[in-house]
Amino acid sequence: MDLGISGKRALVCASSKGLGLGCAEALASAGVNLIMNARSEMDLTYSANRIIDRYGVEVETVVADITSEDQRAKILDRVENIDILVTNAGGPPPGTWEDWNKEDFVLALEANMLTPISLMKHYLPGMMERGWGRVVNITSQSVKAPIATLGLSNSARAGLTGYVAGTSRQVAHSGVTINNLLPGSHATDRIKNLLNSSSQKQGVSVEDLRKELEASIPAKRLGTHTEFGEVCAFLCSIHAGFIVGQNILVDGGAVNATL
Ligand code: NAP
Repeated sequence: MDLGISGKRALVCASSKGLGLGCAEALASAGVNLIMNARSEMDLTYSANRIIDRYGVEVETVVADITSEDQRAKILDRVENIDILVTNAGGPPPGTWEDWNKEDFVLALEANMLTPISLMKHYLPGMMERGWGRVVNITSQSVKAPIATLGLSNSARAGLTGYVAGTSRQVAHSGVTINNLLPGSHATDRIKNLLNSSSQKQGVSVEDLRKELEASIPAKRLGTHTEFGEVCAFLCSIHAGFIVGQNILVDGGAVNATL
């Protein structure tokens, strides 16, 4: 399917690996020029070069911690107009309710709620003025089915979801859509780190925990960053202009809820 977005310009945050990289690759395969971002220059340059070689699109890279206001300014100063914004950042650490103090919540809110909000506030006016734009926020299945050990993530992402519910409906008239993509368990570094942490706490091998996790998903496997990215690219396409303010699960059926 021609997504109709060849030649558009996208900022894909936290995109040297994992789900962000999946989104960057799928957009590039649709002919979208990219600004990619991550903290490690080496990984970012490697992934950007692979995309340039494979898809022949223009790719700029900005090394920055997207969750830090000062470092985010490097992107906002350098990247003026974009058509597509994919917000993403690392997820907060797991734990239990007794572990988390106010500072932990402030960090999580900054990373997974206030950062995407500040990016949207910055780029929405230009998209609206030009009459076309797409925003996809990578959140989590924990928005629909909170995961007890990810209380920091549950809290921050619920806040972002509330913001998007209202804002998406305020900007839709101008041809700009905002939606959230909710990953279930995908085979990325994030899931490896979470499995390692559970393995240490429970004394069960990572391999057994992974098998247990896969067995709990109706699709009986983890998702891939490639298939996640393709859903993101569709939401950014010309065909998705009537999808507004939605929270779309990509989870192999893990969240067992109809409504
Ligand atoms: P990942 O495999 O760990 O990849 C994270 C990517 O983001 C890397 O490119 C990393 O590069 C970059 N990054 C992390 N923190 C950053 C920051 N502060 N500023 C700029 N770049 C940053 O993670 P993932 O699995 O793709 O997950 C992406 C998001 O989806 C996370 O918020 C995660 O919690 C959420 N999620 C993932 C799953 C899953 O199963 N994978 C499920 C639910 C939700 P650098 O380290 O070089 O910065």
